[in-house]
Amino acid sequence: MNSWHNNFSHIYVEKEARGHGLTDKILARFPKATQIEVDNYKEVFARPGQDFPSQKKRMKLILAVEKGKLLYHGSENAQNFGLPNFYYNTLILNCLYNCAYCYLQGMYPSANIVVFVNLQDFFQSVQKAIQNRPDPTTPLYLPVSYDTDLLAFESIVPFCREWIEFSRNERDLLIEIRTKSANFGSLEGIQPHPEAILAWTLSPEIVAKNYEQGTPPTQKRIAAAKRALDAGWPVRLCFDPVLRFPGWEDAYKKLIETTFATLPPEKIRDASLGVFRMNADYFKRIKKMRTDTDILYQSYQKEGNIVSSAESERRELTDTLRGLLENYLKPDQIDTWT
Ligand code: SF4
Repeated sequence: MNSWHNNFSHIYVEKEARGHGLTDKILARFPKATQIEVDNYKEVFARPGQDFPSQKKRMKLILAVEKGKLLYHGSENAQNFGLPNFYYNTLILNCLYNCAYCYLQGMYPSANIVVFVNLQDFFQSVQKAIQNRPDPTTPLYLPVSYDTDLLAFESIVPFCREWIEFSRNERDLLIEIRTKSANFGSLEGIQPHPEAILAWTLSPEIVAKNYEQGTPPTQKRIAAAKRALDAGWPVRLCFDPVLRFPGWEDAYKKLIETTFATLPPEKIRDASLGVFRMNADYFKRIKKMRTDTDILYQSYQKEGNIVSSAESERRELTDTLRGLLENYLKPDQIDTWT
C-alpha cells in the first residue's frame, strides 16, 4: 500500500494559504516536510510535461486557496438519486489511492495533491446555492468527496468532520461522503446525522487487488460500513464501476452475498450502480500512461464524448447486478447509471 507516510516529503504552500487554520493543522502533521512557498498553486500543479504515474509513487502536497469555482453542477455521468438540485465541490484535487480506472489521471496534469484550505468560502457558496436552488421542494444534494477520497484523507485534513457539522446546521442540505477507505475510526464519536450519507464503494476482492491500488481490501470496507451502521449513520453502498473480467458474474455474486452477510439489508439506505464510463479525452490520455493494466484495453466504444462498454454489455452487467441487489434491497433503493 502506498501509505501517505511515504509521501509529502515536500509541501508547497501558496502565500495566500498562510494564516488559514487548516494550513497550520496540516503543516503540523508533517514537521519534517520541506516547505516551499509559491505565489499560485498552478505554478506547481499545472506545470506542463509532468509524469502522472511517477509522481503518484511519491506524491507532494500543495496547500492552496481556491479562487475560482467553488461549486459545480453534478455530472450526467453520476447518479443523483432523483434529486434535481445536484451539485458537487472539489475540496481536494487527486487522491491517496491509485485506481487503474480513475478518471483523475486523465483530468489533472499532476498526481500531486492539492488541498484547498479556504473552507469558509466553500461553506458560503453552498449556503448561497441552497437559497437559490432550482427546486425548493427538495434539498440541495452535495457529494463532497468527488474528485478525491475524503475519508481516506481524514487524519490529514478533517474535512469530513467539518462538512458533517456544517450540514447538521443547514436545513435543506443532503451530503454524501463516498469512500473506499476503512477509516471510519476517524469519525467515531461524532453524532450521526441523517442528512450526511456515508457511502462505501465495494468491489470484488480481485478488482480491489488488481485495479484499486492502495485501497483497503473489500472486507475491511464492509467492516467499516458495519461500524457506521451500528453507530446509526445512513449508509449507501456503491457498486461502481462494475467491471467485466473473466469470472465477473461469480465474483459479483460472491461480493453481494458477502456484503449482506455482514450488513443488514433493512438498515441500508440505498445503493448506486454503474458500469465503467469515462470522458473520451481523459480515456485517451490515460491509456497512453497506463500500459500496466488490462482494464483500459477492453472492447470499449465511444458514444458522444463518453467511452464505455457497448450498450448490450452495459445492460448485461447492470441487469445482473440489479438482480443480485434486489434479493436484498427494494428496486427503488437502487440508482443505476446505464
Ligand atoms: S478512490 Fe476514487 S478518486 Fe481515488 S483513485 Fe480510486 S477512483 Fe480515483
